[in-house]
Amino acid sequence: MKNTGDKTISIAGTQLSPQTLLQPTESIQQLLETAALYLHIPFCHTRCYYCDFNTYAGILPLREAYVRALLTEIELAGQMARTTAGEKRRSRSIFFGGGTPSLLSVAQISRLLNACFSSFAVDKDAEITLEANPGTLTQEQLFGLREAGINRLSMGAQSFSASLLQKLGRIHSPEEIVQAVSYARAAGFTSINIDLMFGLPDQTMQDWRETLERALELGLAHFSLYSLIIEEGTPFYSWTQSGKIKPGDEDLCADMYEYADELLQKAGYINYEISNWSLPGQHSRHNLTYWQNLPYIGMGAGAYSSFAGKRFSNELSPHEYIKMLKARRLPAVESEDIAPEQAMAETAFLALRTAAGLHLPTFEQRFAKTFAQFVGDRLRMVEEAGLLEHEDGWLRLSKRGRLLGNEVFMRLLPDE
Ligand code: SF4
Repeated sequence: MKNTGDKTISIAGTQLSPQTLLQPTESIQQLLETAALYLHIPFCHTRCYYCDFNTYAGILPLREAYVRALLTEIELAGQMARTTAGEKRRSRSIFFGGGTPSLLSVAQISRLLNACFSSFAVDKDAEITLEANPGTLTQEQLFGLREAGINRLSMGAQSFSASLLQKLGRIHSPEEIVQAVSYARAAGFTSINIDLMFGLPDQTMQDWRETLERALELGLAHFSLYSLIIEEGTPFYSWTQSGKIKPGDEDLCADMYEYADELLQKAGYINYEISNWSLPGQHSRHNLTYWQNLPYIGMGAGAYSSFAGKRFSNELSPHEYIKMLKARRLPAVESEDIAPEQAMAETAFLALRTAAGLHLPTFEQRFAKTFAQFVGDRLRMVEEAGLLEHEDGWLRLSKRGRLLGNEVFMRLLPDE
């Protein structure tokens, strides 16, 4: 993917960069003691043709049993995650993802949130996001969600072209996106994200321009832009194999990314991570947890966790998941220890994907080793080739490095 190089923008005459905006306000040791909470809601009305998430159509009657199972998992996970002093684990963010969490009732969301509040020490100003499908939202529901404590909405808008939405198998229209945003605003939501997709079969640059222009007119706090990846097992995959659809052209896809980045930056948005742009101060705290390689606990069918030096994932099937929780068993089915060298490589890899890059003093505080000691001379060639740049204690990919990121990433892991 292409990207523009200079990420510094000027607001009210002050130069702001992702580095200054994303500088943690707490020490890394404090942040490592927290856990972001992710709750997976695996229900959808229908399956979009490109989707390979762990989500199912046709199991809506399972919702209440699933919510009860999730309530049990939250309680068990809260006990598992207690601090060495036996206190509740602090959490700075909660994220309801899916699937389509907006298919749960407000009362169900509220019960799940209250369970998080009683099993974890959730910050008073925690970021609490709910993913929603524009076609499933009502005004009343949004008032209820806001009152229940949801303070950030993330909507899968994907496109403002009615025909592309149809080709993707989405259930909403462009007008429903605009309506959902206006309902959300009326309900008091100020932190709203929409996801948009590019590199779609048959999508032209003109389609993409129009989508971005209509998206910008909404004046939202945040945009996530993703290029379509055709995953095995999806209808899009078989249609590509049979020639029914043609994947988006790679060069066009890179141009679309570059166009979007320029347009959004001109409008005052900061590209703080490869796929994410926000107005200053409106970046997603929860998503940054992943890029900063901080602990998170995923709950629900198929959810992933990275906590206490281990990575684990839950049972995928909602039916099996419910059975396990009925028996009050934690539903993790796979688990691996994260070796220190692997944790260092992953921390560097994830940070280099952000516009801010890797903060070297924080790396040293975290691992009691400098980045230079960890990496030795493995990055010498890519540094000499101009793929990396240093600035005030930060290491980040240069403009050229962003195009050739894999050359850098593959050198981070120590040789066997
Ligand atoms: S709404 Fe989202 S989670 Fe559900 S099928 Fe479509 S892309 Fe997948």
